[in-house]
Amino acid sequence: MKLIKDDLIKAFSLYEEKALMHRRFKHADILPLLENVRSSGRLSITEIGKSTENRSICRLQYGQGPIKILLWSQMHGDEPTATMALFDLFNFFAGEDDGFDAYRNEIASKLTLYFIPMLNPDGAERFQRRTAMDVDMNRDARATATVEGALLKEQAILLKPDFAFNLHNQNNYYNIPGTAIPVTISLLAPAYDYARSINKTRADAMRVIVGIDKILQEFVPNAVAKYDDEHTPRGFGDNFQKWGASTILIESGAYVGDTEKMMVRKCNFVALLKAFEEIARQSFVSYSLADYEAIPFNDEKLHDVLLRNLTIEQNGKQIVVDVAIRQNEKTLGSNYYVEGRIEDIGDLQDFYGYQDIDVSGMEFVPAKIFTKSFASLSDLDDNTISSLFEEGYATVVIEKTVQDKCLHGLPIRILSDQSTELHQQLLLDGLADFFIRKEEKIIYAVINGYVIDLKKELQKHYKNLIF
Ligand SMILES: [Zn+2]
Repeated sequence: MKLIKDDLIKAFSLYEEKALMHRRFKHADILPLLENVRSSGRLSITEIGKSTENRSICRLQYGQGPIKILLWSQMHGDEPTATMALFDLFNFFAGEDDGFDAYRNEIASKLTLYFIPMLNPDGAERFQRRTAMDVDMNRDARATATVEGALLKEQAILLKPDFAFNLHNQNNYYNIPGTAIPVTISLLAPAYDYARSINKTRADAMRVIVGIDKILQEFVPNAVAKYDDEHTPRGFGDNFQKWGASTILIESGAYVGDTEKMMVRKCNFVALLKAFEEIARQSFVSYSLADYEAIPFNDEKLHDVLLRNLTIEQNGKQIVVDVAIRQNEKTLGSNYYVEGRIEDIGDLQDFYGYQDIDVSGMEFVPAKIFTKSFASLSDLDDNTISSLFEEGYATVVIEKTVQDKCLHGLPIRILSDQSTELHQQLLLDGLADFFIRKEEKIIYAVINGYVIDLKKELQKHYKNLIF
């Protein structure tokens, strides 16, 4: 039996870890899940060390076979997608009597799987890339100044894996070249030298990647790419490859409408189950390196919003430009808010937007602040907001009854201080707050980087901050 798409769909639906359904989970959230895995008795768990701030870092083991595979996730604290998929895999390997026992037995007899989920728990606590010491662990393979980086290197020396999987997230703005399709997964067999030489170790990684690409094409057609293959002598992937483990980088990317990356997580689960099968059966050896080379490299031409052909008037002069907007996420405790910024202005014909709108014949209108303050958020009902928009107001002030730095979902900018000044012109890196008018009628409101079509009903799912 060979796993096919339907098997993988079934396995994921049976074993998806329902306690991890959003991206900002922390070390404390995975501890009870590790206990569940431990109590299943199917995987063994060893604490291999502690982070700078004393959070436990564990290694899980499944199987006793001769081929050793080491996988680690979240060495960058704000890259949690693969950690979710690892817990889905732990649930899968702890299961039985579901039609997958033959697969499990084969894996357990041919492979030894070692998993280190959430290698940077202090970073995860803050939802930041770097460790508590503010070091990028993936630039620390050579120096191993971080305790977490040193732990990973220690495991490499101790276990001498034949294969290694380095599990990351990439940003949402990578696209398949020449298309608006976001890259859902990018893959790489990292180079172990500047010449990007290919020895057997690296060639094996490339062939496993061909197998992963084949199955992913069935889930996310034309949305798989290769990550930049420049050699980074400080990086862990490059060094594992150099140390003799066939190393595969999996970068979780984006899928339209999948804010919490549940589809991307499923792709990780599918990719890894299939990779284990290919390695256990050595079926990957028949794949050609030309198929690896044929996977396109990531391009980086996506924006959250692209407004095409917007007319702007300044000092009596009219120009027509494209405007790109990014909705940058800013962490706030275990939640986040969005800060919409103008990312680029000019000829952006070769770029794409998740929201891509042609506003030919329409004109930029600066947003105004409504000077009379409101007593509370509940005064801002849909009718009030709509009529403020119609008069060109994008910002209101709330009397000091609400706390500063508090989230709200309303489609309007809210200040808690009358004296705050905001720029009203279209400026690079400036606030993305303005209106778009056709003849005398306002068609779109752009508020904190969100585009609101005034012909439609107002939505209330925005991640805005009162400040
Ligand atoms: Zn990363």
